Amino acid sequence: MKSLNRVEISRSALIHNFQKCRQLAGEAAILPLVKADGYGHGMIECARVFASQGAAAFGVAEAIEGVRLREAGITQPVLVLVGVMPQTLADIVIARLTPVVTDASILPPLSRLAGASGIELGVHLKVDAGMGRQGVLPADFSDLVQAVLKAPHLRLDGVMAHFPLADDRQSGNSVEVLRTFQETTAMLADLGCGKCCLHLANSGGLFYVAGARLDMVRPGIALYGYYPDGAAGAAAALQPRLRPVMRYLTRIIQVRRVPAGSGLGYCHLFTTARPSTIAVLPVGYANGYLRNLTAKAEVLIGGRRAPVVGRISMNLTLVDVTDLPETRVGDEVVLLGRQGQAEITADEIAGWMGTINYEVLCLFGQLNARVMVD
Ligand SMILES: *Cc1c(COP(=O)(O)O)cnc(C)c1O
Repeated sequence: MKSLNRVEISRSALIHNFQKCRQLAGEAAILPLVKADGYGHGMIECARVFASQGAAAFGVAEAIEGVRLREAGITQPVLVLVGVMPQTLADIVIARLTPVVTDASILPPLSRLAGASGIELGVHLKVDAGMGRQGVLPADFSDLVQAVLKAPHLRLDGVMAHFPLADDRQSGNSVEVLRTFQETTAMLADLGCGKCCLHLANSGGLFYVAGARLDMVRPGIALYGYYPDGAAGAAAALQPRLRPVMRYLTRIIQVRRVPAGSGLGYCHLFTTARPSTIAVLPVGYANGYLRNLTAKAEVLIGGRRAPVVGRISMNLTLVDVTDLPETRVGDEVVLLGRQGQAEITADEIAGWMGTINYEVLCLFGQLNARVMVD
């Protein structure tokens, strides 16, 4: 039994976007970020597609996500970006995940657990080269490296940092972060870690920061078909065109004709000014179609736009289809994505919601049943 709402994930768009990133990355390896259930697109399904295209490794937030990838048969290194904590180390070792270490205190217990399992565990280190969120400051980097080298059952496989402003093409910050990262990691060769994988670029770094590719790149949003700077990035013709991967669809459950002057829904937020035809959709904020889309959003019906009217409620949304007289119960409605020649992008919805495309994708994708298509 299926919900009337569904999120479609396009396999061919995932492959297209991976290949576009591949072209930009040149010789650099690609680590797709599949955290937050693949930005709402399905972590395991997306990881399988990216693995088939040659992804070198994957990035998740918590260890539990990495364990799920292993259970699904993903064999590439899986970097655990947040939550490398005493209580997660055993699972990290058992699942052969790659912890991103931000603090030397975790190294002795991690090494002991790896030794007890009879393995040498690869780790990556995180430098705070300007993000100001996680990792060691450049001044403390050398001590952290030494601590890894001293740990008998650990191996230093990589060093990373993160850009705070790579989506801002005007900012000079990324050049500084790149320089700090390169200066900080320059001493690795002297310590015999010359082969250690250096990586810094998220989608913004890959698209907009010259020289940031290094040994590996870590795109997230670009793989799902959107630019880190939203509509502005999509409009910049110099970029390779990405293809949005997600569509969000529902069906009309009732078409109602109401007279002029009818108050619609909670608070009668909208009152009809003319005799109107109103389509009822079985979707609301419980499905990620947030209440603050009220009085802003539009949807696609028959390849044409229609405005959402009245308060969006938990499971119901009303659409004014007076100007679309062909509208019938059961018609497909597109909330996000293409229908015919028309398209509503996550950037447009993000504009209505006062947020960014990332959040729209996570919400819609994680709160609805998904199907992979084409
Ligand atoms: C999420 C994340 C990325 C990917 O960022 P996008 O802007 O989605 O490309 C890269 N690196 C780290 C450390 C991240 O947490």
